[in-house]
Amino acid sequence: MAGMDEFSLIARYFAPLATHAGALHLRDDAAVLDIPADRQLVITKDAMVRGVHFVGTEAPSLIARKLLRVNLSDLAAKGAEPLVYFLALMLPKETNERWIAEFAAGLGQDQEAFGMALAGGDTTATQGELCLSLTALGTVPKGTTLRRSGAGAGDGVYVSGSIGDGTLGLRATRARPEDTASYLAGRYLLPEPRLALGTALRGIASAAMDISDGLVQDAGHIAAASGVQIILEAESVPFSPEARDLLSQGNATREEFLTGGDDYELLFTAPETASAEIEQLSAALRLPITRIGHVKEGSGVKLLDKEGAEIMLVRTGYRHFSDA
Ligand code: ADP
Ligand code: MG
Repeated sequence: MAGMDEFSLIARYFAPLATHAGALHLRDDAAVLDIPADRQLVITKDAMVRGVHFVGTEAPSLIARKLLRVNLSDLAAKGAEPLVYFLALMLPKETNERWIAEFAAGLGQDQEAFGMALAGGDTTATQGELCLSLTALGTVPKGTTLRRSGAGAGDGVYVSGSIGDGTLGLRATRARPEDTASYLAGRYLLPEPRLALGTALRGIASAAMDISDGLVQDAGHIAAASGVQIILEAESVPFSPEARDLLSQGNATREEFLTGGDDYELLFTAPETASAEIEQLSAALRLPITRIGHVKEGSGVKLLDKEGAEIMLVRTGYRHFSDA
């Protein structure tokens, strides 16, 4: 960062993104936010480490936009509307100013698209890997957040969009980093947070979460939080045409799709009485919503094939602290 200290960095690249009055133009020690008396704050944080969450060769603007979007996906899972975000940058000393400029430009583009603003953060040098952390704040009308814990026996299990593209996109990006324009690469590099679906599901979904570490493993989190069993029908899980092509060519497996990460779709449960409303919602949002199973008394997740026999998986999803 030859010739640039963190103060000029913040003033030049980040203060312009601090368009919320509460950010105090990033010239104070902390942000000060008003929120309406009838709303609650929803707060989430996600970190990205070079070599773990991104390859490092991606355009800095894409890394920035993904960092914002993975957090927005968590807000969507809560049924929240975006408000502001906080950013921590742990930068190796050799980071050049061009990288920061492009990173900030990516943030600017997406914060505008999603209607939020930067409200603060921290900037430090590191002797380790490049690390980025973002905290997103959203709001909901009091008492209306979606939770992982409300699924009840008899509910249907639904998923938005398609499953498996994220993991295929990661594979494509590793093989051909320069190809960022393909459908699958796009699904990995720039996930679409399902914010409109999340807010629409307030009062409809009995439980919800966003899928980031693999459908089957994440379904297990709803099952555990709700104290129920989730039955998933492998045959019903929606795959994109691109994913189906790779399947039929023998270049991917269904298990990979069901357990791969980076989907950023919403997984939710809802009582049978809501099924017509969910269909209408899907049409109104022009977003496929597919019923992929149901909720029973019991615990854990059972994945069934089309004959109703249980499919056993070697791994159910991504875990940071295991070797698999
Ligand atoms: P510290 O209290 O750690 O010394 P500073 O006083 O240097 O933090 O921070 C000054 C202002 O700049 C604060 O408003 C802080 O939120 C903001 N800030 C620092 N780094 C960033 C960043 N990467 N993105 C956004 N805001 C930042
Ligand atoms: Mg300070």
